[in-house]
Amino acid sequence: MTSWGHPVDPPSAAAVPEAAGARQHLFNHATMDRYRRTLAAGIDRVATRVAGVDRPFSGISPSALAPEVSAIDLERPLADPAAALDELEDVYLRDAVYFHHPRYLAHLNCPVVIPALLGEAVLTAVNSSLDTWDQSAGGTLIERRLIDWTAGRVGYGDAADGVFTSGGTQSNLHALLLAREEACAYAEVGATAPARNDLLPRLRVIASEAGHFSVQKAAKLLGLGPDAVITVQTGRDRRMRPAALARELERCRRENLVVMTVVATAGTTDFGTIDPLPEVADLCARAGTWLHVDAAYGCGLLVSGTRRHLLDGIERADSVTVDFHKSFFQPVSSSALLVRDGAVLRHATYHADYLNPARMTEQRVPNQVDKSIQTTRRFDALKLWMTLRVMGPDGVGELFDEVVDRTEAAWDLLAADARFEVVTKSQLSTLVFRYLPPDGPGRELADDANLYAREALAASGAAVVAGTKVDGRHYLKFTLLNPETTLDDIAHVIDLIAGHAGRYVDDRVPLEACAQAG
Ligand SMILES: *Cc1c(COP(=O)(O)O)cnc(C)c1O
Repeated sequence: MTSWGHPVDPPSAAAVPEAAGARQHLFNHATMDRYRRTLAAGIDRVATRVAGVDRPFSGISPSALAPEVSAIDLERPLADPAAALDELEDVYLRDAVYFHHPRYLAHLNCPVVIPALLGEAVLTAVNSSLDTWDQSAGGTLIERRLIDWTAGRVGYGDAADGVFTSGGTQSNLHALLLAREEACAYAEVGATAPARNDLLPRLRVIASEAGHFSVQKAAKLLGLGPDAVITVQTGRDRRMRPAALARELERCRRENLVVMTVVATAGTTDFGTIDPLPEVADLCARAGTWLHVDAAYGCGLLVSGTRRHLLDGIERADSVTVDFHKSFFQPVSSSALLVRDGAVLRHATYHADYLNPARMTEQRVPNQVDKSIQTTRRFDALKLWMTLRVMGPDGVGELFDEVVDRTEAAWDLLAADARFEVVTKSQLSTLVFRYLPPDGPGRELADDANLYAREALAASGAAVVAGTKVDGRHYLKFTLLNPETTLDDIAHVIDLIAGHAGRYVDDRVPLEACAQAG
């Protein structure tokens, strides 16, 4: 029995000579005692802190915290992990934003599940790199099983493949890279093939105006022009309108532009709405255009017991982005890109003599780097693996269904509240709304009142909510991903918002005063 309470005998600690100097910090067979003690102490700090967290955020301002971080002399180590943890309390843990708190309602950050944290602890210690088999062994096989499992949930056939990525942004970039290369390859087989450089300026991507900005970033990174991304308007339901998409496809054809991909969003970041996938897939099939479905947010529906049908049509996409760190309750980072036809992943393949020579492909050595735009790569898949092995997909789906149910109830609550205006009903778990001052001179202050309420709320730390713009006006947004957030929590935060916003309108408090008060 050790001092930190684990009934484990350090393996032949007596037989291993005590490491000294910097070597004592290396993770190896001789330092397992230190490893256990240090990690246990770290877990204990986090557990104590989390058990005592009574609000999602302390409300501290960057100007108050920055001097504490700056004052630390990185040339003078503390040597003792306990002392470093003490210091960390002051510069990080005390004032961190805690996503597990039921009144954290802002961005697409989920509370995480403990089996995934166990996976994280294992994967960072073993530190496999998933680029090649000879750096990962079983890690590669586990990642491949999870890709196959996810592809199965999407409804893909046996030819499907994919790879884990750092996030939805990277998955979308990767998808657009493949789509661009397919468009170029297709153009090059024609007898009158335009040179690649002639084609690039004519390539277009079509997404809805509610799509994610990483699509625009990806287009830029891929060398496409500033006009490359065409955004089609959504209807009042904030979903891509098939008629508008059809018009754009036709216009591009007429103007000799090449639509390399249509990006449909399954779970828009602001509105939690899902583009009409079957209709979009029909139009893409007719136009011979790649279809990418960005399901970074909506992927949780893949394991939903009640709402999987909302993703119907996703199986017709050429590529799909999923973010397990959004709706599978996984720690950052955990994301994947899936493709219906694994052969297209060759566009990211390069053979390096030192790493993954072509002969390895002939020998069927499973090197994931052949499919990835990263080289050294975390074994993020292990977190999802442990989650599925402990909780199963139904367990994850249950949690996600619960937050979607709660969002529906919260929408009814807001819709019935005369102080607020609420927009589009989400198919997932967002709520976009604004405080609407009573009719009269206060009405013009609606924008500022909502901005003020958000800042005042964050400064108080009582809750954290997000903001966005709809039709040029400032709105507030809840993103609900925590099953522990009750309707009472939501009602309470709504009252706090109404209080702050109402006071702003009554007092005409200038925004600058609020920032200073914070
Ligand atoms: C969050 C999000 C992304 C970006 O994912 P990251 O993991 O933050 O890089 C892309 N698309 C949608 C729809 C998202 O909600």
